[in-house]
Amino acid sequence: MRQLYLNGAWQPSASGEWIGVVNPATEETVDRVPAGSPADVEAAVAAARRALPEWSRTAPAERARLLAAAADLIRDRTDQIARIVATDVGTPYGLAARVQTLLPAEVLSSYAGLAETYEFEGGRVGNSRVLREPAGVVGAITPWNYPLHQAVAKVAPALAAGCTVVLKPSEVAPLAAYAFAEILDEVGLPRGVFNMLSGRGSVVGEALATHPEVDMVSFTGSTRAGRRVAALAAETVKRVTLELGGKSASVVLPDADLGTAVKATVANAFLNSGQTCSALTRMIVHRDQYDDAVWLAVDLAKAYTVGDPFDEGTRLGPLVSAAQRERVVRYINRGEEEGARLVTGGVDNPRERGFYVEPTVFAGVEPGMVIEQEEIFGPVLVIVPYSRGENEAVAIANGTPYGLAGAVWAGDEEHALSVARRLRAGQVTVNGGRFNPLAPFGGYKQSGVGRELGVPGLEEFLETKAVHL
Ligand code: NAD
Repeated sequence: MRQLYLNGAWQPSASGEWIGVVNPATEETVDRVPAGSPADVEAAVAAARRALPEWSRTAPAERARLLAAAADLIRDRTDQIARIVATDVGTPYGLAARVQTLLPAEVLSSYAGLAETYEFEGGRVGNSRVLREPAGVVGAITPWNYPLHQAVAKVAPALAAGCTVVLKPSEVAPLAAYAFAEILDEVGLPRGVFNMLSGRGSVVGEALATHPEVDMVSFTGSTRAGRRVAALAAETVKRVTLELGGKSASVVLPDADLGTAVKATVANAFLNSGQTCSALTRMIVHRDQYDDAVWLAVDLAKAYTVGDPFDEGTRLGPLVSAAQRERVVRYINRGEEEGARLVTGGVDNPRERGFYVEPTVFAGVEPGMVIEQEEIFGPVLVIVPYSRGENEAVAIANGTPYGLAGAVWAGDEEHALSVARRLRAGQVTVNGGRFNPLAPFGGYKQSGVGRELGVPGLEEFLETKAVHL
């Protein structure tokens, strides 16, 4: 029977209530986790507060050793964790092993390294020394789409910084967080340094965001919930970082290699069934190449094997839940009502059971349409034409409230870079540059506040103290 991880021990929830975990490929309930309560939050925050003074004074090398040990255990358990994520998120197993398991291990290792090399004693300015100190007790709230990665992207830098943590994973796919808590328990973190409470956002999440003994909230999720968390946290003037939604543009300039650009954009848009915050879900293509781009995208989308996450050939698994499928179906219907052209895919479920949506492409999409503006969070790519020059393409790319990611494709890298500079987004890929887990990740505009990963991701968890000598 699953329990909460509080103060270095597994304990039942004070609520006595449970949340079922559903396998989205079979629609069966495969597990259940405790629905944490405000009393559990009290206990977890008190434990984290008690553990803070000693943990914040541990030598960075000791924190590094524990983080490195946790990274090793994740690597040892690649198969187990990939199976968990394939089961509760629906990510195809092979992808789950790479992106949902080995990537978080790499991020943990990177923070083990940074804990040792970062200059916590800071620099000197005139007669003052500048110290970087832990922000304190951190409430970490994470979503379901990359459940281990998102937990690690908060917990690893927080622990490296000397903070203590209460993690609340998503109630939709909480099992990877359980595996992570088991690992942190095994490596022997001092009790109370890390705590994990499963439960609902409206209960556990809100209790963390309001608790006066929580110094900082690090939130990843929807813009809607992020706004609410920030408003609640403002009451006690907490430090808040927000990693929110996106509607990222892939800008294809006329001299780009069209085949490469379309192929990479389609692959990115449909990764994890389109449930990726930084997915390139709007492709912006010049009119002269538009028809070719649309048909290339259609061919690529039709070639996807949609199926069970455990089948070897599967490239696209189900969406995470019935609610998510309904949301995506509503957007597809909306796109047709708005007059966009559905060129492949659609609302029909290609399988008898499971929350599946076929890879879907819309052409004839105009800037300002709802499907061009709002995050759909499913395998839906919209292709938007531009007919004037680059300025128009940039204006369309920047024309949503979001600013998480983007891509630029051009014949010449310097030219692509000059366009990348004009995109109001936290990370921009130029001609297919690889994702780099050591580079900062985060959003402009309503995609968020603050950065995760790398040195900036560590510094979010540090206060700054000037000591005048
Ligand atoms: P969500 O906002 O519904 O939930 C995220 C987390 O917040 C969950 O743990 C949930 O329980 C909690 N929560 C919900 N309401 C809350 C409240 N009122 N107070 C406190 N906590 C609350 O998002 P989701 O459906 O789990 O995830 C999908 C969303 O996350 C998408 O919008 C996606 O773009 C975004 N996302 C962003 C990033 C990023 O790094 N920018 C990464 C992954 C996902």
